[in-house]
Amino acid sequence: LTILGLESSCDDTAAAVVRREMDGSATVMSSIVFGQTDLHSAYGGVVPEIAARAHAEKLDHCVRDALDAAEVTLADLDAVAVTAGPGLIGGVISGVMCAKGIAAATGLPLVGVNHLAGHALTPRLTDGVTYPYLMLLVSGGHCQYLIVRGPEDFTRLGGTIDDAPGEAFDKTARLLGLPQPGGPSVQAEAENGDPRRYRFPRPLLDRPDCNLSFSGLKTALMRMRDQIVAEKGGLTRQDRADLCSGFQAAVADVLSEKTRRALRIYMAENPACPTVAVAGGVAANTAIRAALETICAEAGAEFTAPPLALCTDNAAMIAYAGIERFEIGARDGMDLSARPRWPLDQSSPAMLGSGK
Ligand code: ATP
Ligand code: FE
Repeated sequence: LTILGLESSCDDTAAAVVRREMDGSATVMSSIVFGQTDLHSAYGGVVPEIAARAHAEKLDHCVRDALDAAEVTLADLDAVAVTAGPGLIGGVISGVMCAKGIAAATGLPLVGVNHLAGHALTPRLTDGVTYPYLMLLVSGGHCQYLIVRGPEDFTRLGGTIDDAPGEAFDKTARLLGLPQPGGPSVQAEAENGDPRRYRFPRPLLDRPDCNLSFSGLKTALMRMRDQIVAEKGGLTRQDRADLCSGFQAAVADVLSEKTRRALRIYMAENPACPTVAVAGGVAANTAIRAALETICAEAGAEFTAPPLALCTDNAAMIAYAGIERFEIGARDGMDLSARPRWPLDQSSPAMLGSGK
């Protein structure tokens, strides 16, 4: 079974070919990602109209490159999978239209995929993780705990009530004049900092649930920065490092504690061989990763994090999620629509008809 996947829900245009092998494993035959960072850098964030136009221009090239790199032609494919949401609507429409065009021209079946399901199923592609498992999705746009039981069977245990952690890292970098994306630059600064010099809040830890909040960290940071500037006229290199370190420690602490709670809920239901998987760009953070590994080791749970290239947005995860949906008989028609909002614990687009 060989599937072409397309992804265009945010600021990466991507196409990939993934094959299900006879032994049940899956192989990424190619994964092409065209980032749009340069196009948006002057605006301090992703501009939806620019993104949609760039996706429409780049998708054809991505598809050709993905087929060439995998050394296959359209005739070798069994289906085409595409991100049908959630995301920036213009981009999602570009991808869905491109996939429909390929399906119409070749007669290949079309499979709509939820972008978050793509992230959530990645540990099965990369590490052969078996159902069920606990998933922590931490990216620039999302933060949630999911129990993953099947390609269309997700239970959300909780998530952020405001910013996503990646967004908080990006805003922190902006406030301190560090380069974007903020995650890697804040992490680099934090390595030389003292996490105890500035005390950041640990939001929502007084609540027993698995919900998180990160917007207060940015407000706290802004206040601390302004106070330092008022007192000394500016930030030294060390001040910046200490602020980054304190901020990162707060994010790691909050994620650790909430992961401990999510794991407790998950293990009450699935006591045997628990697995915790993490995906999304923030999973690249070494301090956060180490903290989560400790929590899992304490609870006797296995910890998995896919390689970074498959943690951030890519089309291999969409092709793979497409394979899993295809295998359970899911097919979408030419009425597959792009859905800007699409919570994971709701049904597939096929089951929802035109997907409203
Ligand atoms: P989504 O996938 O939710 O639509 P996205 O495409 O912005 O959002 P990803 O590509 O998964 O998300 O990840 C990008 C985010 O990860 C950025 O916010 C970036 O700052 C953050 N990030 C990357 N590396 C690190 C790191 N080492 N530490 C912390 N955050 C990081
Ligand atoms: Fe994503």
